[in-house]
Amino acid sequence: ARAQIGVTGLAVMGRNLARNFARHGYTVAVHNRSYGKTQSLIAENGDDGDFVPSESMEDFVASLERPRKVVVMVKAGAATDAVIDELVPLLEEGDIVVDAGNAHFPDTIRRENALREKGLHFVGTGVSGGEEGALNGPSIMPGGTAESYESLGPILEDISAKVDGVPCCTYVGPDGAGHFVKMVHNGIEYADMQLIAEAYDLLKQGLGASAAEIGQIFAEWNTGDLESFLIEITADVLQHVDAETGSAFVDVVLDQAEQKGTGRWTVQNGLDLGVPITGIAEATFARALSGSVPQREAGRAALPADAGTWAVEDRDAFVEDVRLALFASKVVAYSQGFDQIAAASAENGWDIDRGAMARIWRGGCIIRARFLNRITEAYERDAELPLLLADEYFTGAVGNGLAAWRRIVSQAALNGVPVPAFASSLSYYDGVRAERLPAALIQAQRDFFGAHTYKRVDREGTFHTEWSLDRSESQA
Ligand code: NDP
Repeated sequence: ARAQIGVTGLAVMGRNLARNFARHGYTVAVHNRSYGKTQSLIAENGDDGDFVPSESMEDFVASLERPRKVVVMVKAGAATDAVIDELVPLLEEGDIVVDAGNAHFPDTIRRENALREKGLHFVGTGVSGGEEGALNGPSIMPGGTAESYESLGPILEDISAKVDGVPCCTYVGPDGAGHFVKMVHNGIEYADMQLIAEAYDLLKQGLGASAAEIGQIFAEWNTGDLESFLIEITADVLQHVDAETGSAFVDVVLDQAEQKGTGRWTVQNGLDLGVPITGIAEATFARALSGSVPQREAGRAALPADAGTWAVEDRDAFVEDVRLALFASKVVAYSQGFDQIAAASAENGWDIDRGAMARIWRGGCIIRARFLNRITEAYERDAELPLLLADEYFTGAVGNGLAAWRRIVSQAALNGVPVPAFASSLSYYDGVRAERLPAALIQAQRDFFGAHTYKRVDREGTFHTEWSLDRSESQA
């Protein structure tokens, strides 16, 4: 036994993770259900470092130093359970199983429980950055026991992305915390992508600009506060020309967005926790709307626009308004995502350090962005910050663009351009800062039809009004 770490599941992600370990000088045991992938890794990338290939799971496990560290990188769901079931009888007390796939966090909690009973550590780990990140340095979000992190953590930090020399990997929290945080990361990614898509649409409709021109605007934006991987690739994609037709590539792509499900999980969890993650929800539903083909056909045929023809007069001022509105909406989406992390952390006793999460998302992952530094700083100022938006930096940055945000959302409405994420983010902003909300009326209605009771602004206690009798008030 001489391998320091093992990887089973050698499709794109597992193969690249294994190569990343090897390139960092680790001896890596490699295994895949079908041996062909193991052989092709050795044939094509054997030069990357020291690999120990095995055809059987038994040989793979036997090739690992104790306590064994096995990274499972297979299709999420039943495949992960199948691999764990095969592995567990071969392992010994203190060994560590790392699930680096995109598991749903309740599955991770279940698996962690089951393996703990057998004296094994189970580490559900979020890995972001796609195949490129897996090879050159992903953002890594490990859960599981703090004890397992002592031996595993340094290896994962070693292969993670680095920003200013700081690894984009840290211990997140017990059992499902790592996969939970990865889920929210993906939800925020959905929101960020939708906001960028809305900004593109606004520029297209408002200015009548070509994809290439809009690509230039995004490239320009990428030199300021909005600097991020997603803005950078947007600039690139928009300037790409389709080889076959000579048209802008984005114009030949069918406008129906798909999803693998992590956005949906995030929204479902937001509903369970009662945390308004409206940006992520709107983004998820916007993908659903884009794919609602019969509804869109019926809507296109029957629904009048009754909207103006958009002709923006001051191009530069409009571009700047869109930029400010995009930044403000983006802050809302992140603020909501961090609220969700705080709520789940409290509910599950995970004790997640939100500032550290922003720090490990600065590099390697899809939402890597300059402004994550600002989020880390905000939580350094106040680790218990109840609302990220209300941090001094963000109140300033968002406040600065508030008038622009309102102009953009109202102009979009007047001109019939759908901006669900921009608009709902602005409504969230106005809702969360409101002195008084119409929720009072909801409570009154609930008491009227269902005797659900209400509280009063002027006295302690719970009250009910006899709506169908004499309308007297009683205290519950
Ligand atoms: P896939 O999700 O396509 O899974 C393919 C791998 O799973 C193959 O190694 C396959 O083995 C193995 N597998 C499938 N079913 C079984 C089974 N019943 N028993 C044993 N092995 C099985 O691979 P990816 O590399 O794309 O992704 C791996 C994981 O990483 C997934 O959980 C994914 O969600 C996650 N992930 C992916 C990202 C990406 O950009 N692709 C980014 C971040 C996370 P075989 O070769 O024998 O079929």
